[in-house]
Amino acid sequence: MQQETLEMDYDHFLARRVKAIKTSATIAINEKATRMRARGVDVISFAVGEPDFDTPQNIKKAAVEAIESGFTKYTAVAGIVELKEAIAEKFHNDNGLAYKPAQISVACGAKHALYNIAQVLWDKGDEVIILAPYWVSYTDQVILTGATPVIFDTSKFKNFAIPRDELKALITPRTRAILINSPSNPTGKVYNRSELESIAQLAVENDLLIISDEIYEKILYDGTEFVSIAALGNEIQQRTITVNGVSKAYAMTGWRIGYAAGPEKIIQAMNKIQGQATSAPNSIAQKASIAALCGPQAQVDIMRREYQKRRDYIINELNTIEGIDCNIPSGAFYAYPNVSKLYGSKYGDQVITDSVGFCAYILDETQVALVPGLAFGTDDFVRISYATSMENIKTGMGRIKRAIEKLKGEK
Ligand SMILES: *Cc1c(COP(=O)(O)O)cnc(C)c1O
Repeated sequence: MQQETLEMDYDHFLARRVKAIKTSATIAINEKATRMRARGVDVISFAVGEPDFDTPQNIKKAAVEAIESGFTKYTAVAGIVELKEAIAEKFHNDNGLAYKPAQISVACGAKHALYNIAQVLWDKGDEVIILAPYWVSYTDQVILTGATPVIFDTSKFKNFAIPRDELKALITPRTRAILINSPSNPTGKVYNRSELESIAQLAVENDLLIISDEIYEKILYDGTEFVSIAALGNEIQQRTITVNGVSKAYAMTGWRIGYAAGPEKIIQAMNKIQGQATSAPNSIAQKASIAALCGPQAQVDIMRREYQKRRDYIINELNTIEGIDCNIPSGAFYAYPNVSKLYGSKYGDQVITDSVGFCAYILDETQVALVPGLAFGTDDFVRISYATSMENIKTGMGRIKRAIEKLKGEK
């Protein structure tokens, strides 16, 4: 048979919903950095969104035990009772929140829990308020349901504040919920009690739900207090779905265990969707997650202290660079500097006009990968992850500094 190289076009087979969303920008940049590295280029990546630490030994051991004891079959769709009890215990101890196991659904990562939430709650015509800078998947998960993400840009305000009246102005009769993320990826902002109270009040007054992504809860600096919005009172707990997981706190991103807690009716609906998609999350990883939540927590603090050292170094360095302004993050493992004063800079015959151009310049000029703020809905910024070694951070920051100096020379 003759080998034809003519490629078939599959575009007309693809559903409209796929065309409506984009590939996760952070995944795309990490893949580019990986490809460069495979070609032998010495790339330093500040684009990663996961801990660089190994999963603690006691957690791995629990997984090995699960395998060896034959705990390798399907489990209940929403997770095993023992894990749901461990999660309920965690909510009680860490957040002062009471949940029954039936109000908890374990999913294949917090991202999957958020996906299930979107699938069971939003319909075409619904509006969901998302605070920018936002985590990359929030908007696309809403768009996949046919609903409309309504973006509230907090980057206009000092320290990414959330002025109540301006947020309120976005609420329409079609608004169903406000999605919040504290500590925030990408800004590292941690909402204080009064900021959360004002959001909670808006939710109660306007019959809205709150989706609260608390995945970075354990990664906090300078003694910052973490408050779970649902813990502000019974009225707001009834309107909140709290999302969390083991990925970030326990360096378990590959294990794919996250969870949601909230009103039983909504949780049961999520279980119904999950039962038609993935069924239960991985049985072995569920056992490992029990060890993570119930075992010794010393490793969490060791990792947190290491992140804090790196944060201090990066923020110091960034703020010595003319043209860059960076807030001090109180949590998570990202710095989110405003680099827009450098827009308009020239190199060769090119001009940097936006965050994508800025990151392309830094990657091409110094082989350091950053994520453009455009991916988080705020084009004046770039995200620098410090979930990488101090050695990489020192080398990478040195390279960024020199690249920016060079820009000034050419301006
Ligand atoms: C990493 C991350 C998640 C997803 O975590 P998984 O449990 O690994 O799916 C959710 N939200 C934010 C803001 C994250 O950064």
